[in-house]
Amino acid sequence: MSATIIDGKAAAEEVREQVREKVAAFADRHGRSPGLVGVQVGDDPASEIYQKRKAEAAEGVGMISRRVVLPAETTQAELDAVLDDLNADDAVDGVLVQLPVPDQLSESHIAARIHPDKDVDGFGAANLGRLVRGEPAPVPCTPQGVMYMLDRHEIPIEGANAVVVGRSLIVGKPQALLLTARSATVTVAHSRTRDLPALCRTADILVAAVGRPEMIRGDWIKPGAAVIDVGINRTDDGLVGDVADAEAREVAGWLTPVPGGVGPMTIAFLLSNTVEAAERRLGASEQE
Ligand code: NDP
Repeated sequence: MSATIIDGKAAAEEVREQVREKVAAFADRHGRSPGLVGVQVGDDPASEIYQKRKAEAAEGVGMISRRVVLPAETTQAELDAVLDDLNADDAVDGVLVQLPVPDQLSESHIAARIHPDKDVDGFGAANLGRLVRGEPAPVPCTPQGVMYMLDRHEIPIEGANAVVVGRSLIVGKPQALLLTARSATVTVAHSRTRDLPALCRTADILVAAVGRPEMIRGDWIKPGAAVIDVGINRTDDGLVGDVADAEAREVAGWLTPVPGGVGPMTIAFLLSNTVEAAERRLGASEQE
């Protein structure tokens, strides 16, 4: 058996095309394009690359994108003032702060400071709460991308056994909520899980979001399962995922490659969240 390889680049382009159409319609209606601002503290090279990529992607779908780069020694009060200005700026629909931030800053404080309507990463308590409640909100981008890929390949979710390996706020937990909302039976695994290989073998849908190169081996995978590899690990052999790709191809029914799988979906859904945030904000103000 050879797995169907899920093409994240093609799926992401499909999402970007839908966003492009929504951006054009928004601009026609409101006389301006949705605005996305990326805030970066310090000059970490990886953050620099991510921020540039997000800005280019936003411009590529017709949004107005702006980058704010603050010195590494920026205090929480100084960052708060920048976020408050962006919260108050009517031309700004989405605000994201590139993580990780230097030690003097608190990620949870930052997530709380960004206005929930502009929290296009969906990491703030208000939006995570809405996700738990099943109310409309920006949903964290990576797990949203995973759901899109499953649907694009018509992989059955309702009633399926899903195992999510990893319980982070940005991937594992929201992923489990999204799968639960679609009536999968979800188990969340983490570093204290007993007999992880046996648990993984029960999964019709296996999502790996761990950050350990090729940890999930071929014999952990149920034959025919959908295996979604969120991991991005830099090794001497280049970028690899959390799943042993060559082994998984022999057993899985579907598999996302690394690179070119989940990765491209994350930015595509950031753009999608931004245009939806813009529509929600202006739609709400029109009704006032
Ligand atoms: P975190 O480091 O925040 O979380 C990792 C999770 O994996 C934790 O819950 C941890 O458990 C669990 N874990 C660690 N070791 C083991 C183990 N041996 N067995 C079982 N579980 C284990 O990572 P993120 O969720 O932020 O990211 C995960 C991976 O996904 C990374 O490689 C990251 O680069 C990638 N990523 C990719 C994105 C994309 O766009 N494709 C976007 C975001 C992340 P515990 O809680 O017990 O410590």
